[in-house]
Amino acid sequence: LSDRLTSTFKNLRTKGRLSEADIDATVREIRRALLDADVAVPVVRSFTGAVRERALSAEVSGALNPAQQVVKIVNEELVAILGGQTRTLNLAKNPPTVILLAGLQGAGKTTLAGKLALHLKSQGHTPLLVAADLQRPNAVTQLQVVGERAGVPVFAPHPGNQGSDDVMPLGADPVAVAREGLATAKVRLHDVLIVDTAGRLGVDAELMQQASDIRDALDPDEILFVIDAMIGQDAVTTAQAFQDGVGFTGVVLTKLDGDARGGAALSVASVTGKPIMYASTGEKLTEFEVFHPDRMASRILDMGDILTLIEQAEKAFDAGQAEEMADKLASGQDLTLEDFLTQMQQLRNAGPLKKMMGMLPGMGQMREALDNFDEREVDRIEAIIRSMTPAERRTPKIINGSRRSRIAAGSGTRPSDVNQLLERFDGAQKMMKQMAKGGGMPGMPPGMG
Ligand code: GDP
Ligand code: MG
Repeated sequence: LSDRLTSTFKNLRTKGRLSEADIDATVREIRRALLDADVAVPVVRSFTGAVRERALSAEVSGALNPAQQVVKIVNEELVAILGGQTRTLNLAKNPPTVILLAGLQGAGKTTLAGKLALHLKSQGHTPLLVAADLQRPNAVTQLQVVGERAGVPVFAPHPGNQGSDDVMPLGADPVAVAREGLATAKVRLHDVLIVDTAGRLGVDAELMQQASDIRDALDPDEILFVIDAMIGQDAVTTAQAFQDGVGFTGVVLTKLDGDARGGAALSVASVTGKPIMYASTGEKLTEFEVFHPDRMASRILDMGDILTLIEQAEKAFDAGQAEEMADKLASGQDLTLEDFLTQMQQLRNAGPLKKMMGMLPGMGQMREALDNFDEREVDRIEAIIRSMTPAERRTPKIINGSRRSRIAAGSGTRPSDVNQLLERFDGAQKMMKQMAKGGGMPGMPPGMG
């Protein structure tokens, strides 16, 4: 192997544990990112505490520098909290499945009712919407409009339509409307019932009472707490109030199309322990998706670039490739030019890491190793090897003067570059053969040395 390759591996070798200084520096950055994302302060405190603990006992990775490793732990913890309880809708054994929506006014319940109905309809269900928000006169009309758009029927009280069995007189008791809605769903064989309820601008005893009365009347299979992602620091108290007042089985986060960084997701998930099931991302009925914990984690961290780089760095030291190489060595097989290229490319994959060196504290040896590495060199090597015929790659000895000129021309290099590559390759091959005979190589990552 080339000297450079060897020394890079040596620099990146596993060494003990992360230092407290490295961890604390990165945890400080993370705390700032979480507060920026409007994660509730107590949640930030307990979360970073847990991350610090875990980082202190983590083995140092061969592929990542300390800061990256802490970020990786943070990301994993975030995904675990956001998705720890991820599950799909709990469908009733005896339909209809009853889904009750609860949340503050303006959270997006009515809109969500339509989205959920459309989503379930597209999966072959036959939902019925129930307008149990009788607080505002136009709430019923709003749900009817939404139902029409989704192509899903709505059970509602309606002043001008007293004769139909779909309706109840306006001013009716929401609990009675909900009960009638359930009876109607049974008669008409709707397999899902989605019940829209009234909200208030703030947490309010009467609101909680009404929601819990409807809950008692229907015995829902799911109670979804709908919360606006823009709510910020209030997420914790609101979620807690609904948890205590009504109780819920799952969370839906709305208005994620806005510029909220999604801190509410972490606050609600960590305080209530309830799964976030869906995300609403716009006013249109189709702007709705199953919740993705990993996407939310990188939104909250706002370190998408860094997460991508970490992934690349780990790929660059892909354990599978390392093992393959070790197997090859053990079986005494020759290193091929293709293998050689793969090794160089692994180093290149680590190249973009250079970009983030300035972004995080705790950079060390990795920077040096990468500074010594010229990405253009890998491009050149790749071009040369790609310009060889399969026979030439298998048996480089057959490369004579005219072949060399052809390869150089094909790869936009000089014949001397081709020669240099072949010499380096020859050296690497000899070294591999020696290692195969025993001894191993110092400074290789686990599985390679
Ligand atoms: P409710 O009071 O809980 O029933 O809330 P609504 O469903 O009436 O929604 C309140 C407002 O938020 C309406 O103007 C909706 O169009 C809007 N809205 C609901 N969900 C979303 C969303 O995911 N993104 C955006 N941008 N607006 C939304
Ligand atoms: Mg509403």
